[in-house]
Amino acid sequence: MTDGHRIVVLGAGYTGMFSAIRLAHRTRRTGVEITLVNPSGRFVERLRMHQIAAGQELPHHRITDLLDGTGVRFVRGAATAIDPEARRVTVDGGTSLSYDTLVYALGSSTDTGTVPGAAAHAFTLNSPEVAGRLAARLTEVASAGGTVTVCGGGLTGIEAAAEIAEAHPGLHVTLISSEEPCSMMGDKARAYLHRALGRLGVTLVTGVRVAKVLPDAVELADGRTLRSDACLWTAGVKVPSLAADAGIATDDRGLILTDAILRSVSHPRIHAVGDAAAVRLAYGQLHGSCQSGLPTAQYTADTIARLVRGKSVKPFRFGYFHQPVSLGRRDAVIQFTKADSSPVGMRLTGRGAVWYKEFVSGSPLTTYRYSKRVNVSTIVSRGGRATREPVA
Ligand SMILES: Cc1cc2nc3c(=O)[nH]c(=O)nc-3n(C[C@H](O)[C@H](O)[C@H](O)COP(=O)(O)OP(=O)(O)OC[C@H]3O[C@@H](n4cnc5c(N)ncnc54)[C@H](O)[C@@H]3O)c2cc1C
Repeated sequence: MTDGHRIVVLGAGYTGMFSAIRLAHRTRRTGVEITLVNPSGRFVERLRMHQIAAGQELPHHRITDLLDGTGVRFVRGAATAIDPEARRVTVDGGTSLSYDTLVYALGSSTDTGTVPGAAAHAFTLNSPEVAGRLAARLTEVASAGGTVTVCGGGLTGIEAAAEIAEAHPGLHVTLISSEEPCSMMGDKARAYLHRALGRLGVTLVTGVRVAKVLPDAVELADGRTLRSDACLWTAGVKVPSLAADAGIATDDRGLILTDAILRSVSHPRIHAVGDAAAVRLAYGQLHGSCQSGLPTAQYTADTIARLVRGKSVKPFRFGYFHQPVSLGRRDAVIQFTKADSSPVGMRLTGRGAVWYKEFVSGSPLTTYRYSKRVNVSTIVSRGGRATREPVA
């Protein structure tokens, strides 16, 4: 019996949006009601936040436009509480939404709480508004030949440093990383990346942690102080505390612990996807990425559609297959990987890689468009033998 079954999807980022649209298609003509909740009416392309920081104007995508024709109801607001026993979500502004099934897709954001001064003095790529403020600041700093420090040598920090350096040749860009930047890549791809950063004039400071962020400098753990007219913080992520606050089982970072079909282990009417879900496969836990997030959303939409019809479902399986990194608008490097995201010998660089990366970054919106009518798959690899074994 599906008539009147209420599904609430929390968060309209990459995974919540895909869950809602695919669910609408997979449950059409069944009487299932789907509601999508998000604080902003704009769909945020997080994959492109560093482009905004570098001063590029990006198109605005309205959530209601992306949902057009799906029948999904959009509620604008932030969810402030979940009552899993009463099966109700409270949204700021006083709205209360009852659900039979909940999809938790609240994502993650950069954690500025780990180092003194970062929250007060550093910019992040957490929203288009903050990235836009950084862009304005960088224009001022560049005209005076100043310095920007980018803290964090993960993919986000590297993409941001390269993008900013390419857009502002007059700016000194320093990338600070406690580890070797892109340590997860193979030697050749990493060497390519280092050469590209060098060509763009990015100074690398590695093997040391940032101890403090000041208004005009960053202090390093080894006692050095580096000038910083603008600081971009990309090191570390956090997730909303809503699930943990509601007594839903989470790991120590607040990600919902999931079973083999991505339901909460404590509250099976709640399904978790994307960065806010702790998903364990035989090779280890998924790390927050669109590459793994979209498959969790696709799988969850299909799973819920089957469960509401009383059908059986198979466990979630997924394997990584690439690590694409943009190096400004004119260069990129793609490291191909095994299912567990460790590198294989194959890589792509230069113009082919730029095209590939752009295709990947644009693919979520294309997927949403087609998913209104057909079942588009975002699962390139199910991981083969690496995901066939039981979870340890
Ligand atoms: C600059 C940058 C570059 C990246 N590049 C890549 C890349 O190349 N490849 C890759 O795979 N990944 C990349 N990532 C990571 C990728 O963006 C995330 O893994 C992805 O966005 C996760 O999707 P999500 O739907 O779980 O979360 P999000 O996309 O963060 O969406 C979460 C949504 O929930 C909403 N929300 C939050 N709190 C509430 C609340 N209380 N109530 C209602 N809604 C709420 C948010 O507003 C947001 O709309 C990058 C990230 C950044 C920042």
